[in-house]
Amino acid sequence: LPAILLSDISKSFGAGENRVDALKNINIEIAKGEFLALCGPSGSGKSTLLNILSGIDKPSAGTVIFLNNALNDLSENKLAHIRSKHLGFIFQFFNLIPVLSVFDNVFYPLVLNGHCDRKEAKARALHFLDSVGLAHLVDRKPGQLSGGQQQRVAIARALAHEPSVVVADEPTGNLDLATGEAILDLLLKTNQQTKATFIISTHSSQLKDRAQRVIEITDGELAYDSAR
Ligand code: ADP
Ligand code: ADP
Repeated sequence: LPAILLSDISKSFGAGENRVDALKNINIEIAKGEFLALCGPSGSGKSTLLNILSGIDKPSAGTVIFLNNALNDLSENKLAHIRSKHLGFIFQFFNLIPVLSVFDNVFYPLVLNGHCDRKEAKARALHFLDSVGLAHLVDRKPGQLSGGQQQRVAIARALAHEPSVVVADEPTGNLDLATGEAILDLLLKTNQQTKATFIISTHSSQLKDRAQRVIEITDGELAYDSAR
């Protein structure tokens, strides 16, 4: 069984003259454990696709199967439950909580989402921050870190509940080339270690040579899929 199955997905925003067809009839089957690079220029529909495949947004047409759940039929509550349990999401602009320490940015989501008790959450926060190379910075605030370090915190947060699907929307888009390379190395290594499914969007060509599978979308259409 695939991790994610997208069938005939279309998505439009707005209506009439203002209508934008952001995705047009997209079909993708993503296997468990795959490392998929979703490439395409800015505005091609990458974010829209990531939001739909992870149940954050609904398609205008077509079906999404996420880990055997047909997302179309589910209430917002049930979708939120599936996301919090099975999905780790990494953003271009990190989305850390500035008033919380690095440790608390990873610790509190674990507790508040009911993934584990405080003792286990503490152990996991320290373990995952150590695994992204930040054990020595756990008491800092996000604003006291470089961009690359902040993205490492966001990665630790996304992985700490051991999700089976990790989605990253332009995770290197706000980082210089070398820092971005290090973040991609970390994601590739984590994919091999955890066997989770990774879907990473990028408008740069950085990932193309290194991802197991590359999909390109242009103007909302699937232009290339290395698995076909
Ligand atoms: P990418 O992630 O590749 O930059 P997006 O998925 O963000 O592309 O956008 C695809 C297209 O859909 C663009 O034309 C964008 O302007 C449009 N779009 C995305 N989100 C919305 C929205 N909430 N409302 C209206 N148009 C949107
Ligand atoms: P579902 O609703 O799909 O059955 P839950 O999120 O309720 O899943 O629970 C998943 C697992 O996590 C269960 O084994 C449960 O015992 C455990 N669990 C949930 N909340 C806590 C918690 N606060 N502390 C420790 N374990 C928890």
